[in-house]
Order: sequence, then structure tokens, then C-alpha cells
Amino acid sequence: MERLPVLRPDLPNADRLLPYLRSIDASRIYSNHGPLASTLERRLSDRLGLPAGGIVCASSGTSAIIGAVLAAAGRAHEERPFALIPAFTFVATALAIEQCGYRPYLADVDPDSWLLDPEKLLLHPQLKRFGVVVPVAPYGRPVPQEPWQTFRLRTNIPVVIDGGASFDTSLQEPDRYIGDVPVALSFHATKCFSTGEGGAIASSDLTIVGRSMQALNFGFRTMRDSQMASTNGKLSEYHAAVGLAELDGWLDKQSSLLTVVNLYRRLMDRESISPSFYAAPDISKSYALFLCSSLDEAAEVTGSLDRHQIDCRLWYGTGVQGHTYFSAVCHDGLNISESLASRLIGLPISSDLTEGDVCRVVRALREGVRASALRQNYVGNRPPSGDP
Ligand SMILES: *Cc1c(COP(=O)(O)O)cnc(C)c1O
Repeated sequence: MERLPVLRPDLPNADRLLPYLRSIDASRIYSNHGPLASTLERRLSDRLGLPAGGIVCASSGTSAIIGAVLAAAGRAHEERPFALIPAFTFVATALAIEQCGYRPYLADVDPDSWLLDPEKLLLHPQLKRFGVVVPVAPYGRPVPQEPWQTFRLRTNIPVVIDGGASFDTSLQEPDRYIGDVPVALSFHATKCFSTGEGGAIASSDLTIVGRSMQALNFGFRTMRDSQMASTNGKLSEYHAAVGLAELDGWLDKQSSLLTVVNLYRRLMDRESISPSFYAAPDISKSYALFLCSSLDEAAEVTGSLDRHQIDCRLWYGTGVQGHTYFSAVCHDGLNISESLASRLIGLPISSDLTEGDVCRVVRALREGVRASALRQNYVGNRPPSGDP
């Protein structure tokens, strides 16, 4: 039996790219906000209901975070050395703020929303030490703007949302998820909407988008004069070509992913394990997640998937603090992030997964869940330890 990979991305093929590549041959413009990147920005802002200039593309999601942080908060300074971020995120969030001079300060997330709680953070004892706050859209579960607008107003601390994989989910309610708090998006190959490598900053605050563009272009505005802390994080015309071809076929791609997600849900329903399934429309269509009830169940489930030749992944590891490089960073209690990250198992997802594939995954899940339940029962029935 062939091993089932956890993700097999599906980007536009050569035929669909060709017209765009030919237009690059004709224009001989290869980067620097050329015609393809500009068209992509316009088409993306139309979809999000933003005016022209509401989106600037970036070379990756990570550089989009860097550009937005430099634009909204600038580099870290002595009195406010920390960037507050959740522990429950992909490590790129921490690496990006570090490139802007900040030290990460990890906070825990809410157990239900999986998001930072801005109201709780208003009372944080270290509030005066935070130069920027970067809430994260975990697995593309979008971050509402309104509570962070309030937070920003009450604290005067700049906020940049790491929207990660939330482009498809933000489209469900753009007014709620896209606003004057800048959102950095990733268009990496693993994300639902992709340019291969790429990203964007989206905001209704056109000044912030303009400054982000400058921060990703050596600090240049109209002249070749570097005027701010900055880097090179522009999207090339070749990546923009992928993005335009991706947008051409995007409704089809989304509906194939949704078909797979619905298949998962139906088969899990049959096994009464669907309450543990997290997928679209709650999160991005590029993820199918199974939340185990305990670490023991997680171990049984991953063991069973492996025996059935099925790959799975803890997309966020055990949280930012679990990475060697970040093992000594400052943080609050992180019980929820640690527990969530270790129990939330990324299942195989791709647009061409067959009913047979999904069946195989669900059968392996059921086996793992049952094995763990049996063991719990056995442990539960055992006399308390110490007894003969
Ligand atoms: C994917 C992702 C990133 C990194 O984006 P890249 O395009 O790979 O640089 C950062 N944060 C979150 C939440 C992500 O999902």
C-alpha cells in the first residue's frame, strides 16, 4: 500500500501559467511591482472588498509580517523590547518579529477560539514592555478586527495580525476580518491560495499598506533613498504569474478541497468521531484536523495512522516554546497552547484525495480512538496503585 502524504499541494500547471509567462517575456519586467504583481494586488483587493492600494504582495508570509510590523510599529526600542505573540502558532511568527528587533513574549490562547484574548491582555503585567502585538489566525481561523481595534485604542500598542492561511476564510466575511488593523497573509504552497512562495499585507488603512510596501523595498518610496528600517521582501513577476493562474482556477480548487472535507465529515459522522474534526468553514480548506481528547489518545491515533501507512503532522509542533531556538523565551503559563498543539493532529488533505483514501484515514482514526478508550477503561478499573 502506498503511503498517504499529509499534503500534496496542487498549483496551476505549466499550460495555465504559459500565457502569463509569455507576458513576462514581452514586458521584460521581472520584479519591482511589475504589471503582473499589480494585477494580482488589484484582483485580490477586489475580492476582499478593499480599495485599490489595500493590498501589497510580499515574497512570503514571513516577509509580510516583517513589512507590516516595520510599517505599524518600527523596530523595537529599549523601553518596549518585546513583541507579544501566542505560543500556539507556526514558528515563523516568532522569527519575523525577531527580524524587526523584538524579543518574543509568548502568551497562552483561549481554549475555544484558539486565539489571543485581547480583553485579558489589557490587564497583562508586562503591557508597558510590548512594542507590538501579533495575534495569529491559527490554521486560517480568521481574527476579528473589532476587539483588536479596541485594544489598540486603549493601549496605544500597534497591532499586526498574522493571518497565515486565512485568505479563504476571510472572504467569508471580509468586513469582519479585514480592516484598519493590518493582516499579513501567506501564499506558501501549503496554503489554500498560493503563489508557490509569497504573501501579502491587507488593510483598509492605505497609509499602512504604503508603508509596508516601502518596508519591503529597501525603504524606498519615490526616490532611491532609504527612509525607514526595511528589507527586500517583494513578490517577483514569476510568483505573481502563479498567483494569477491560481486565481483563475480558484473556485474549482476550493470546491475540490471542500468535497474532501465534506467526505471526511460524513465518514467520521458514521463512526461518531466527527465532533473531534476541525475543518472548513471554521478553518482554512487546506487543513483537516483531528483534536484528540488526551495525549494518550493522540499517541494511539498517530501510532494507528502510521501502521496504516498514513502521514500526519503537528503543524505547530508543540508550540513556539518547543523549538530549540525559542526554548528560553519569556512566556506566561502556556497550558492551553501546549495541550492544543500536542493533541491537534493534521490529517492528509489534498484536492485529489479519493473516497478510498479518506475511508482509510477514518478507519485508522477509529482504531486509535478505540485503543485509547479501551486502555483508559482498563486503567480506570484497576485497583488504585499501592493496593495488592
Ligand atoms: C504559513 C504561515 C506563516 C509563514 O508563511 P510563509 O509564507 O511560509 O513565510 C506564518 N504564520 C502562520 C500562522 C502561517 O500559517
